[in-house]
Amino acid sequence: MTLVGVLALQGSFNEHIAALRRVGVKGVEIRKPEQLENVGSLIIPGGESTTMAKLAEYHNLFPALREFVKMGKPVWGTCAGLIFLANKATGQKTGGQELIGGLDCTVHRNFFGSQIQSFEADIAAPELSSKEGGPETFRGVFIRAPAILEVGPEVQVLADYHVSSDKESDSSEEGNTTSVKRVIVAVRQGNLLATAFHPELTADTRWHSYFLKMIGEVGEGSLSSIVAVGTD
Ligand code: GLN
Repeated sequence: MTLVGVLALQGSFNEHIAALRRVGVKGVEIRKPEQLENVGSLIIPGGESTTMAKLAEYHNLFPALREFVKMGKPVWGTCAGLIFLANKATGQKTGGQELIGGLDCTVHRNFFGSQIQSFEADIAAPELSSKEGGPETFRGVFIRAPAILEVGPEVQVLADYHVSSDKESDSSEEGNTTSVKRVIVAVRQGNLLATAFHPELTADTRWHSYFLKMIGEVGEGSLSSIVAVGTD
């Protein structure tokens, strides 16, 4: 029996649980290391990664989270969750926060700037198909969003974003990101999925469905093992 855990320290965990419910799956709030033993997959929500890291440290969650990733269990990080999963984080106020790591990429925190530079954009994601023909697009909600600047050879790019001049970051500490014209905003590496945007804040559940498909591929056997709950 597989339940989808949702790290519930801070950020948009309720919205992820609601989105999981809409696709017929039960999300389980995770706050303590031992609770990870009850789930076969995990979503790390968006929020504020420094705060989330401090809370994770306080609850002694990092060793269990790293073990969870190493065991090959499916983990999806959205926004701050993406930062958590990255092997390397750069950019403003990165401040040496602890990361889970495992995802072979360099992520730039707050790449697009501060809260007021948050934005929405239609983005192509061919893997996210549900209709026939043409590349599928989704509405990306970017809130103080990070961007992925580099990926390793094992990482599959699922979506990228062409940066317009008004969205180029002025917050770089390392290197001049104003020269970056194309950034990566969704990736998969085996059991890991990471998105710089917030699908849980939209009515579109295709990214949640994509994660469930991943669980079916790499997780505990098959989709049939996911606990279905009544949709509302
Ligand atoms: N910029 C935030 C951070 O660094 C992430 C923003 C988000 O999760 N919406 O933690």
